[in-house]
Amino acid sequence: MELVSIPGQQVKGKVWLVGAGPGDIELLTLKAYRILKHAEVVLYDALVSQDILDLIPHSAEKIAVGKRAGKHSASQDEINQLLVTKAYTRKNVVRLKGGDPFIFGRGGEELQTLVSAGVAFEVVPGITAASGTSAYAGIPLTHRDHAQGVTFITGHCQLASRPMDWQGYANPNNTLVVYMGILNADVISNGLINAGRSASTPVAIVSKATTQDQQQFIGTLGELGQLAADPALQMPALMIIGEVVSLADSLNWFEPKQIDVTSDQTAQHSYQY
Ligand code: SAH
Repeated sequence: MELVSIPGQQVKGKVWLVGAGPGDIELLTLKAYRILKHAEVVLYDALVSQDILDLIPHSAEKIAVGKRAGKHSASQDEINQLLVTKAYTRKNVVRLKGGDPFIFGRGGEELQTLVSAGVAFEVVPGITAASGTSAYAGIPLTHRDHAQGVTFITGHCQLASRPMDWQGYANPNNTLVVYMGILNADVISNGLINAGRSASTPVAIVSKATTQDQQQFIGTLGELGQLAADPALQMPALMIIGEVVSLADSLNWFEPKQIDVTSDQTAQHSYQY
């Protein structure tokens, strides 16, 4: 798509590509917090938690560009154009994304657009869903007795031009973290088992990780499809596949607070910043 620039006008602002982390507001970095507080316009994704959106100053323009199943969302081209247009008219433009902007976040694509339009930018990393989930579900992604490495993959399994490397992912000494994989749980489980990974490999699906609604569904690779079809499972959800999942039983420390709607409202989870 051809980008529209504003002839005769200088780019006024800078774009801050900011990772918001996986949900828990306290997992936002201090840098992300400072930049959000100075934002004049924030373009945000559906994955950014409400607690974090509430930190955006009232004076800032907030633009939801996220993808939510079934609802219209801005196309990537529209988002790219919007970032450039806003940078012409505002000083501090924030592009806020769930997790880390460079992990399945299309952050790189957006920056390439800014480069070609001559817009200055900075990147603020965020805690990616894999790290947040691993910590809050008590599943270390590596462990000297269980996994020598970890691989993050997308479970979209969609690109015919780039088929999934099941053989590579089936290594039993490796932890596999699957983003966006719930709808393809059967494809993923069959792909890995056919490539030699044992059907008894422990797996966890963790939904809404690091939030008060976190839930985890633990079973084996052979059961992945069933776990993903659990009606209680909410989005977003991440899969962790590998021997390290067996540690969740003993290392699981996080207890989402059950908010009692009948009790005093002030007892609810609240933050002062
Ligand atoms: N840039 C993001 C990932 C975007 S892709 C990051 O670094 O985390 C979206 C996928 O991330 C979802 O389909 C889900 O697999 C995962 N995800 C994001 N937030 C999550 C959360 N709080 N709990 C579980 N999975 C999450």
